[in-house]
Amino acid sequence: MNKRNISGQRQMDFVSKFNFIREAGTDAEKKAAALIREELSSFGMDSRLEEFPFYTWEIRKAVFAVTEPYYKEYQAEGYIRCGNTPEEGIEADFVYAENGDEISLSHVKGKIVMVNEIVRKDMYLKLLKAGAVGFVSITGTPVDEGEDRMPKAAGIPQKLFDSLNERELIQGVGIHYLDALEIVTKGASRARLTLLQEEVSRTSGNIVARIPGTERAEEILTLTAHYDSVPQGPGAYDNMAGAAIIMEICRYFKEHQPRRTLEFIWFGAEEKGLLGSRDYIKVHESELDAHRFNMNVDLAGQLVGGNVIGVTGDSSICSMLTYLARETGIGMTTKNQIWGSDSNTFAWKGIPAMTLNRDGFGMHTHYDTVELLSAWSLERSAQLLCHIAESLAAIDSMPFPQEIPEEFKKQLDEYFGA
Ligand SMILES: [Zn+2]
Repeated sequence: MNKRNISGQRQMDFVSKFNFIREAGTDAEKKAAALIREELSSFGMDSRLEEFPFYTWEIRKAVFAVTEPYYKEYQAEGYIRCGNTPEEGIEADFVYAENGDEISLSHVKGKIVMVNEIVRKDMYLKLLKAGAVGFVSITGTPVDEGEDRMPKAAGIPQKLFDSLNERELIQGVGIHYLDALEIVTKGASRARLTLLQEEVSRTSGNIVARIPGTERAEEILTLTAHYDSVPQGPGAYDNMAGAAIIMEICRYFKEHQPRRTLEFIWFGAEEKGLLGSRDYIKVHESELDAHRFNMNVDLAGQLVGGNVIGVTGDSSICSMLTYLARETGIGMTTKNQIWGSDSNTFAWKGIPAMTLNRDGFGMHTHYDTVELLSAWSLERSAQLLCHIAESLAAIDSMPFPQEIPEEFKKQLDEYFGA
């Protein structure tokens, strides 16, 4: 049953060309797009680059200093989408509120507050309600060294940001665990926080390559994977491995023309909020009626792990995929739910969709490199997905309802803030 011309080693060689950080909107992402197109043309595939603009926040300055009873600046990472302090920062009393429980937060009014967790929607709202004027969050562990000794931060959700006016916003930074230890031990009582950021416009792009079907060319199946990475690491597992898997499958179908049309899409700016796929559905709106199924890959290629296929569509798709996987002898399980990757975007537009996902180590960190990938794993995932795609491209009529269950529709509207 397995296809001899699917190669794990070739996928490894491909991913090895991308052992660099590819944050959306940077020259590195553009370089990656060019490399993907080069690979496609090396086996005779034409492709299009569909560029799109997006807005993102850039931190100009993030400083956190204890000012009393001693003075020291600590390495800080700024939170995006939460406004600016004055140029010179804000100085206020400092308090450690641990997990942000009610008792700890009952005496933080007018203060800069340190909490244990990355601040997201719920904690941000608690801090606002408690009257904090700024916040500091803690990441890392007491055994970190080297690059792990760097602090991390996040961003306030766009919807929350949009719902607040500028005066309500408070600013925050992340610091490292070991610095938090020192700050509390030395009895910090006052601090100064400076955070300056601006919204900038950047350009990302999707790469689209199409193999027309021999008999049902008017029906389209998509195979998709994002190729951008987070700024923390070169994203081999997340998700150059996925990009390699659909490249290998594209190679296969170039030689074995499918009955239905297959479209291969490498999405940019997934890590910025599925921006590539969201641009795709806008640009291709008039064509979406022809789409039958989206097969997305996000997180793949590590050896120790298992395949999970997240299905956003009718539950019968799960049994169908399990049946097809059984034919290959390659293990997998299914989950019938919405999925935080580009497949969600297709499902939101009414197109049944799945994401092939493999658990693994080091997502969104500097550990996510090609050294942790495995030809064995890539080969098997490509075999599995290729068999699914080939079967669905060939079958007389699509074997599942071309609609999204009501409960998922609701969740997707919520997810996309519609
Ligand atoms: Zn990803």
